[in-house]
Amino acid sequence: MLCKKQRIKVKTIAIERIKRLFEMADYMFHINSELSHRYVELARRIAMRCKVRIPRELRRKFCHRCYRFLRPGVNCRVRLVKRREPHIAITCLECGNVMRLNLEGLKREGER
Ligand SMILES: [Zn+2]
Repeated sequence: MLCKKQRIKVKTIAIERIKRLFEMADYMFHINSELSHRYVELARRIAMRCKVRIPRELRRKFCHRCYRFLRPGVNCRVRLVKRREPHIAITCLECGNVMRLNLEGLKREGER
């Protein structure tokens, strides 16, 4: 059993690895998109195993249904919706899933 200090260390390393995998996925996308999807898969596995959340800014970079890496204008569509609660709608063109991001949440993120 790991002590609290060790658990924090494991989680910090896990988040670093997740960030790195997303960087690689981003870089590899135009060369081999299948590899990018694989990196997302690996990042998810690390997150699950170490019980960490994928950082907020990375969560919109992949589809939450088919877990594919998303690149706006290539395999996803990003739309700003002003109706009712203004939000950003990201449509995955691989499986058709729509993710909605609240603008209030994004604003708060920017202020931090
Ligand atoms: Zn999808």
